[in-house]
Amino acid sequence: MSRRRSDLQRSVQYLKGVGPRRAEKLAKIGVRTAHDFLYHVPHRYEDATTVASIASLKPGDDASIIGRVVSKGVIPTRRRLRIFHAVLKDDSGLIECAWPGQPWLDNTIHKGDLLLASGSVGFYHGRQMRPREHTLLASSREADAGMGRVFPVYRATEGLSHRQIRSIVDANLDGLLEEVEDAELFSPDWRQAVGLMRLPEALEKLHHPQALSEVAPATRRLAYEELFFLQLLHARARHRYRSRRSGLALDAPAELTDRLLAALPYELTGSQQKVWAEIRSDMERPTRMYRLLQGDVGCGKTVVAAAAMARALDCGRQAVIMAPTELLAEQHQRTLTDLLAPIGVVPVLLTGSVTGLKRASVLEDALSGEARVIVGTHALIQDGVEFGRPGLVVIDEQHRFGVEQRRALRDAGGEADTLVMSATPIPRSLALAIYGDLDLSVIDEMPPGRKSVITGVRGPGDRPAAFEFLRGQLAAGRQAYIVYPLIEESDSIEAAAATRAVEDLSVLFPEFRLELLHGRMSSSDKDSVMRRFLAGETQVLVATTVIEVGIDVPNATVMLIEHAERFGLAQLHQLRGRVGRGADQSYCVAFYSGESPAERLRAFASTTDGFALAREDLRLRGQGNLFGAEQHGLPALRFADIERDYELLEHARDRARAMVDADPELTSGPNRGFARVLAERYADQAALFAVG
Ligand code: ADP
Ligand code: MG
Repeated sequence: MSRRRSDLQRSVQYLKGVGPRRAEKLAKIGVRTAHDFLYHVPHRYEDATTVASIASLKPGDDASIIGRVVSKGVIPTRRRLRIFHAVLKDDSGLIECAWPGQPWLDNTIHKGDLLLASGSVGFYHGRQMRPREHTLLASSREADAGMGRVFPVYRATEGLSHRQIRSIVDANLDGLLEEVEDAELFSPDWRQAVGLMRLPEALEKLHHPQALSEVAPATRRLAYEELFFLQLLHARARHRYRSRRSGLALDAPAELTDRLLAALPYELTGSQQKVWAEIRSDMERPTRMYRLLQGDVGCGKTVVAAAAMARALDCGRQAVIMAPTELLAEQHQRTLTDLLAPIGVVPVLLTGSVTGLKRASVLEDALSGEARVIVGTHALIQDGVEFGRPGLVVIDEQHRFGVEQRRALRDAGGEADTLVMSATPIPRSLALAIYGDLDLSVIDEMPPGRKSVITGVRGPGDRPAAFEFLRGQLAAGRQAYIVYPLIEESDSIEAAAATRAVEDLSVLFPEFRLELLHGRMSSSDKDSVMRRFLAGETQVLVATTVIEVGIDVPNATVMLIEHAERFGLAQLHQLRGRVGRGADQSYCVAFYSGESPAERLRAFASTTDGFALAREDLRLRGQGNLFGAEQHGLPALRFADIERDYELLEHARDRARAMVDADPELTSGPNRGFARVLAERYADQAALFAVG
């Protein structure tokens, strides 16, 4: 029988042994189509080749066995403990198993059932096993012929056991694999280059492995496939972005750029030079740039962004930079005012606080091109804001903006190049998975002479000593941050807790000025608190997470973090990055509550390398959490592990880009199958990714 390929998209209910009721249950675990069912592979395997033979068991052993139930029953004891007994038999012999206090097992375990049981072997009128765990591999009605020696265990759902799922697999697998014969998308050459088995072979081995060692290479096949489609989505988004509007070749003589760089009081680090060269050559090319600049807090991204801005100005174009908060936008404005002074350019600010006549004049200058560098918040993407001659759009702390906001700014920028910046280091694997549509530039080196921040993780008992240390630093003229985590969802409760904390601390440090900064304050209040801290009028800033990003006060040398266990590694690292920005040695003290610090906090203290911490974070939390698939509108990864499969990820990225560059609409013969899969399986993501 020959079926069309898209038949695999038929509802799972038409498979043998399914029907509408079971189809509903399967839908709960995400299995809706025949294709889904085929890809619903076992989540673990029981390996009969590693179990002990029953005859070999000795008292004192701890072992796993597989055997058929030859007799069973509940035996009451004198102490009224009811014990369920079953005698298991394999080719080598018999053993009695006992489950004290579990008489109900009599209802679920039947004569003839094939059980896998693990537990310790004792002696009680003969050898006896007390199973800690048991799995029903096959019931008396089910044959185990053809199952091999490795037993697949499927993720079950309410009302549908893993064995029922397995029997549906057994009834349908051969037919489904035949259909998959025509669904192989990767050519033999391609498979050979990556070392992939054929799809039907991989699926067969995952459902019915003869040996456990067959599972990993089969998983690799599906991992590559899933990574390839992820990268194909990215490659298409990237292509659309680059081709929807013709870009600008920002290649006029680099007069302002050279002057700005020559005026710097320091040399760019090797890493800064490398990323600057990447950005510059992108800008000079006529395609639109869409590049991510990643680098740890303080590595010097701003100066690179300033050089890129100057490059746009050289070509008679405007540069726009958007920051996630007013505080940050204002700080960018100050920094850029200094950096751009040697070329005689004064950046203009546009935030929600800029209103009335001032706002009207900024809008007018933005439109006429009079305003050459515009710094702002998302006020930049509101109605009525228009840029006359945009050449470069910079998005700072891009992860703080949603997909929509980033798209809106890029749209406002017309044919301008886009540079997005992030001070949240993420491992290369994650960057490739999430930002595969962007080109990546990484600064992985700190400017010379930076002292790394000394970090201590301290328990409740260490507080007095830490506060005395703080007093010493303050007495020496330094400043400090004390940070509280967001305790409740509600801003007002958070504000109240922080207010109380400041009162307590003021009693403790009567000789110094402390001030509070929290999310509930108006932006002008926040601003004046910040200004007083910057000017050194206050010594201690007690804050909730609003100081997390970007604030730069070189005289601040101490960061105390309360309830550090409530922060993620990335956040802790961001907070620590607030100190160590001046010439003096800086310190970070992370207080944990409870018995002992979490592994995360020990990792935090062990290094100041943000990329190393990010890899550790990925290891500790797993890709599921970090990946934030929905947040990014990306398909979840079920088979791939981006760290383990990094090499596949990179290969998939290169192949996908090459395919899309050569055949953007995927209309040529061998590419049509990929287009169809995108349409069938990735329609939602493809729509979200259709950004221009
Ligand atoms: P980021 O934005 O990446 O967090 P910044 O651009 O704010 O980092 O730079 C942090 C500090 O380092 C700034 O005070 C900046 O003047 C300084 N800086 C940047 N590049 C260098 C360099 N190559 N050598 C010395 N200091 C530098
Ligand atoms: Mg910065």
